Amino acid sequence: MNDHGSEAPIAIIGGGLAGLSAALDLVDAGRNVVLFERRPYAGGKAYSFKDPSYEVVLDNGQHITMRCCTEFQAFLERIGCADVVRYQEHLEVAVIDPDSRGHHVSVISAKLPLGLSRGGRRLLPAPLHMLPSMLTYEHLGASEKARLAFAFEPIRRMSEFERLSLDRQSFADWLSDHRQSERVIERFWDLIILPTCNDRCSDVSATQGIQIFQEGFSSETTAADIGLFTAGLGQVADTAVDQLRRRGAQVQLNSSVDEILTDEAEVASIRYGRGEQMEVSGVVLALPPKPAFDLIPSPWRRREPFWRLSRHEVSPIINVHMQWDREVMRRDFVGVLDPDAQFIFHRSQIHGWPTPPHWISVSISGAHDLVDLSQAEIVARVERAVRRALRRTEGATLLATRVVKESEATFRPKPGMNAHRVRPRTSIRNLVLAGAWTATGWPATMESAVRSGRAAARVLLEEQVQSP
Ligand SMILES: Cc1cc2nc3c(=O)[nH]c(=O)nc-3n(C[C@H](O)[C@H](O)[C@H](O)COP(=O)(O)OP(=O)(O)OC[C@H]3O[C@@H](n4cnc5c(N)ncnc54)[C@H](O)[C@@H]3O)c2cc1C
Repeated sequence: MNDHGSEAPIAIIGGGLAGLSAALDLVDAGRNVVLFERRPYAGGKAYSFKDPSYEVVLDNGQHITMRCCTEFQAFLERIGCADVVRYQEHLEVAVIDPDSRGHHVSVISAKLPLGLSRGGRRLLPAPLHMLPSMLTYEHLGASEKARLAFAFEPIRRMSEFERLSLDRQSFADWLSDHRQSERVIERFWDLIILPTCNDRCSDVSATQGIQIFQEGFSSETTAADIGLFTAGLGQVADTAVDQLRRRGAQVQLNSSVDEILTDEAEVASIRYGRGEQMEVSGVVLALPPKPAFDLIPSPWRRREPFWRLSRHEVSPIINVHMQWDREVMRRDFVGVLDPDAQFIFHRSQIHGWPTPPHWISVSISGAHDLVDLSQAEIVARVERAVRRALRRTEGATLLATRVVKESEATFRPKPGMNAHRVRPRTSIRNLVLAGAWTATGWPATMESAVRSGRAAARVLLEEQVQSP
């Protein structure tokens, strides 16, 4: 526990992964930290709840991580929670085409045939390590597969400067300039862009789309290996809160910050809870763009960088958790070439739950078409898609469902939006911004949130914020 004497605390506003990681860095640097979280639990967009009817812990939305998400992994290690993630030995995504008359399932994999890997090392450099599996991938024709190289090769060679210069163009337009047909965009590129960027290639900037493929497929051969959570996501946030408290931070749950009060160009205090006021030496504002904008004192809202926060849009994700009377899938997860059932996760298997009944979670990103439908309409569409995709559902009974709509799941990395992803430093000297949507270069992920929190903490530490 740190002894802070009369030092006014740094207030972290928001207990999502951005706020939690900023708090961790600041408390470890010896700062007096108070974290405010509006809800009774931390975790923000990555949380779990216990379904009272079925006694199971469900996540608001199925989350995955990848080996390239190194800052998120390091965060888990620091809080002593790394064992909640189980990584694949190598990237392997089985993809189902429900309309296919031939091969129903085909696998995209980074596993290399014997002779091309030795002692666990993959002898073909990225992205060539994907080549053997792409050659046997059945959901694209031979010429479509050959033409993937016209996009992969420039992506591999592209500099960061060139990538950033493509922000006004959509990734779909860039792909079509590089000989990718609409069908290939839908059946291959969207398969990866939808779950990572929460929108289709047509609504994602080329800058963001290319970043995904450079990071995941063109750097390390292991970068895209997928990590699955073997426990509810809430365990990560609960452990982080516990660790923060042990290290001397105060964490105030159920405590919303309602006003930031400035004195000249500095934050002097905040108002929170039931009108209490606290003098602070600095603020990390770790909220999504809209609520962050609403908390900025009004005279500052039209100035740099704050007005940019009001330009952000959001994209929805829907998860349908389903309980079946029998096992309807064998793999941990599958991708489906159907917009109503994009990825299906075998929750009972991943979590090691005693079965039956069997739980699966269907995750639908960029769910603009579904979000305004009723729960019953969503279940009807998703059940139909799941029954078409998973042959084992034949004769199986769907016992229960739980739909979780996250209407404002993530910011949209649309063409032209990169300029509005701002850096942590602002024109208010001791107020810094964090959140997955800030200028990390990553799409809305846990990795982006953790990176943003760390960047914000660094700026405050550089400012050497002292008690007034
Ligand atoms: C359904 C779903 C699936 C996802 N899947 C993945 C995935 O597979 N992999 C991945 O990496 N990422 C995924 N993401 C994205 C990831 O969860 C987010 O990018 C990340 O958690 C955002 O963290 P954050 O801290 O920036 O913001 P948030 O999580 O939004 O945190 C902000 C926090 O601030 C609190 N708050 C708001 N107003 C106030 C106030 N006035 N005072 C105090 N507290 C306040 C909120 O309650 C919240 O806890 C998914 C997101 C969703 C919704």
